[in-house]
Formats: sequence, structure tokens, C-alpha cells
Amino acid sequence: MKVKIIILEHPRIQSENRFNDIANTPLWSCLMGGYVASALKAAGHDVRLIDCTVNGWNFSKTATEIMAFSPALLAVNGVYMWEKTGSLFDFFQNLRQAGFMGHITLFGFYPTLACHRILAFSKAVDSVCVGECEITVTELASRLSVHTPVGNIKGLAERHGNGMNLTGSRKPISDPDLFDFPVRPDQDFTTVSILGSRGCYNHCSFCPVPSFYNNGPLWRGRSPENILLEIEELVSKGITDFYFADPNFIGPGKKGKERTQKLMELIRPLKITFGMETRPQDLDDEIMESLVSSGFTSMLLGVESGSETLLGHLSKGITRNSSERAIARCRTFGIEPEIGFLMFVPDSTLSNLGENFEFLEKNGLLDRLDRTANLFSHSHIVLMGTSGYHRHQQEGRLTPSGYQGFEGEIEYTDKRVAWMRDVMVFACLHILKESASCDSPIHWQKPQGQGAAKRVNDYLVKLFERLLKDAASVKPSDDPEMVKKNIESEIHREMRLAEFLEP
Ligand code: SF4
Repeated sequence: MKVKIIILEHPRIQSENRFNDIANTPLWSCLMGGYVASALKAAGHDVRLIDCTVNGWNFSKTATEIMAFSPALLAVNGVYMWEKTGSLFDFFQNLRQAGFMGHITLFGFYPTLACHRILAFSKAVDSVCVGECEITVTELASRLSVHTPVGNIKGLAERHGNGMNLTGSRKPISDPDLFDFPVRPDQDFTTVSILGSRGCYNHCSFCPVPSFYNNGPLWRGRSPENILLEIEELVSKGITDFYFADPNFIGPGKKGKERTQKLMELIRPLKITFGMETRPQDLDDEIMESLVSSGFTSMLLGVESGSETLLGHLSKGITRNSSERAIARCRTFGIEPEIGFLMFVPDSTLSNLGENFEFLEKNGLLDRLDRTANLFSHSHIVLMGTSGYHRHQQEGRLTPSGYQGFEGEIEYTDKRVAWMRDVMVFACLHILKESASCDSPIHWQKPQGQGAAKRVNDYLVKLFERLLKDAASVKPSDDPEMVKKNIESEIHREMRLAEFLEP
């Protein structure tokens, strides 16, 4: 028997302070609702995918639509929204108060990593699908369709008293070709996200991807033929630009490279363009040549640090040299890479900050304001369920923070580094907020390497050097507020000067 189901990509509310932190959820979670919807459709259910990231609905409009459709199952991709996350649980509570009787289940990265906590505090939520969720949600729907109890489904955590009951973990499917292509909302997209692989073969301490799938490294690639079929289908609808949302596009070793080469051969005749994210040591000349000749235009490289010591603390499994080689290689092939970087981590020393700065400068990464402000401001974020969270908790250095303790505030070993982070992040966020305003001389759509943006960029680079020197003599009692005030007026002076010199 089929049941009425809504798959929901809920409204996202932007955080005031964390608007440039993308660590709240891995990129590929944007396709998760679509994958769940396609699995349920294949099982014959009456499925409606509501994607509020596309239709722009707020929680109130979404609630009205859900009440009108009255599904037996509301399955929600729960995305952490920093301090705004409570709005999601208020929404569930409001649905219950309005008389919604359907089963509410959550899936995705945040619900998986925080399932104990969510089921303990939100009585409106019935269950959480832990880890890879397509099969778990489908089994849940099948139980609901015949009105049998939903207990004992592998991977489904249910509330049990004030705690939770999880029958057993659900192993990720070994062959990702078995998943149907994701349902996509009707919308004219210029760039379409696509998922060529799942998971990662590394286990960085800050990353939720390995914890989500396997509590450890696990990478599974779709076959090149299967990816080609999906791309051809989208090309037939007029789409020509793609972004592979894979946490790790190329995959491990020789086999990962051979698979990528094969995929490139298949998609080359389609004349599409595409971007992707990968680890520095997975690139070589052969792969680059193959990628570029198949329409490759943009890349995010997970570099994270210019300090060998900190790369070790982050369990990154790469060296500074491999990152430098990858950046140079991309440029040789005409690709300017974007860089994933953690400037401030709790175990950093001032000398490590100096190494980071020297790395960025040496590799020509500090010449564009939008990039400089991001590289100088990203701090290590510690999320519940990651290996870094457990380690710091065991060391007694973690104070739960964020919504319902989903984040961990880690005590910095060197208080001077914490002072520098406080001041530098303030300066960068101030600039990034300013660059969001259309009237600003440093608006992000204006050329970032010239005019006012260049002037403010050069100021920011000098500011970092100056603060690094000042930090050496900072005492724990020193209040950074006065320094921040001065920086704010210096930034505005630079913008005014730029306008005066180049009206
Ligand atoms: S390499 Fe990237 S995807 Fe893999 S564990 Fe590290 S941060 Fe996550």
C-alpha cells in the first residue's frame, strides 16, 4: 500500500555571525532530499519533495502546505543553522500543536551526528535515520503503509523514554549505482549539483563525512557509465554546467585515477563544464590534462594549513609540499584553485600562524579580497560526532556550545593565538559584511584585485602581519575591543581613500 510522504528541505535561516562558515553541513547534503524522494518513489509511494532552498518558502508557509497535504510521513533533511537551529524544532512543535499526526523523521548529517540529543529534547520528532538513509526511510514508509510498529529497523533511532533506541547500524550500500538518480525540483538552474561518489578515504579530525558513513574512512564511487547516464539526462534538459558535490571527487590511489580518466573520456564529447573538490595529492599532470580537456573549470582544494605540525593534529594526511605542488599544477593548467583553509586551530602557536601566513603569501593566495578575508578568518569548528570532538572531550578541553551543544568550544593552548583569532575574525567578517552591500566600493561583484577591493586587501594582509607581531606581547587580561574599534575605522578610512583616489 502506498503512503503520502513529504520530503522536506526546510527553510534555511542565515546566521548573523557564521554567515561565511560552510562547515555546518557538507556540500552534498543539498542532494540528500532528492535521493530520499527517488528511493520512496521507486517503492511506489505518493511522494512530494518540497525544497524551500529553491521555492523560498518560510516555516509558516511550509507548515500550511504540509497540513493541507497531510502526509503519513514527513521526512526532513535536518540542516544545522548555527544559533538559528531552534527555529526548525519550533516548526515541528508548531505542526504538532496544529494537529499534525504524521510520523516525523529526520535524516542527514546533523540529525545523524546529534541523534541522541535531538530525540531527547524534541518530543515532536519521532525518529532519526542514522547514516546513509535511503533504505532506512523506505523501510520506515513500508511499515507505516501497513500500520505496523516502526521498531527494529536498522539505522532508525527512535525515542525511548528520555533516551533513544537504535536497533543496529545500517551499513552503507557497497555499490552506489544502485541508487536511483535524485529527484530535482523544477527550477531553471544555471549550475546543477551532481554526486559522483560518496564518502572519503581519509578521516580528518574535524570532518563529519567519515563519521556519518562509517565512523571511519569509506569511499564509494559510482561507475563512470552510471554518472554519464545522469549527465546525459540533464544535458537533454538544456543543462551544461555541473558541480560535483562529492567530498572527494577523485578517490583513492591508482583505481581512483583510472575511474576519473574513464569518466572524463565519456563526458568529453558532451561539451559540458564542471567543477569539483578534491585532496591535493590526488592530482597529477595526467589527471589535470584529462579533466581540463573535458570541461573542468573550477576546483576547491582541501589544503587546511601551511604548518606540517597542524596538518598532523588535523589528521589531514597531506604535506605542505603536496599542497604547493597541487596549487602550482592547477595554475599550469589554467585553473585558479579555491582553497579550504583553517587559519586558527586550538593547538596553534604564533609560529604556526606565521607558517600559515608565509604559505599563503608564497603561493600567491593573498591578492583577492574575497579570498583573503575568507582564508584569514576560518577557524577550526568542532562538531558533535566527529573524531576531534571526542578527542577534545576526553582531554577535558571541550565545552559544549552552539545549539543544544552540537558544537564544542575548545580552549586554545596559547591565549595569544585566541586573541589574534578574535581580532582577525572580527576584521574579516566586517569586510565580508561590507562587501555584501551593493553600494559598497568593495562589493563582491566588483573586481576583487583592483580599486578599493585591492586597497582593503592590502590593508588586511598588513594587518595580519601587524597583529602577529602585537600578539607576541599580548597578556590574557588585554581587552581586544579597543583594537577592534580602531580596525573598524581603519577599514572605512581605506575605503574612503580608495574612492577619493579612484572615484
Ligand atoms: S579529506 Fe576532505 S572529505 Fe575527506 S575527511 Fe578530510 S575534510 Fe573530509
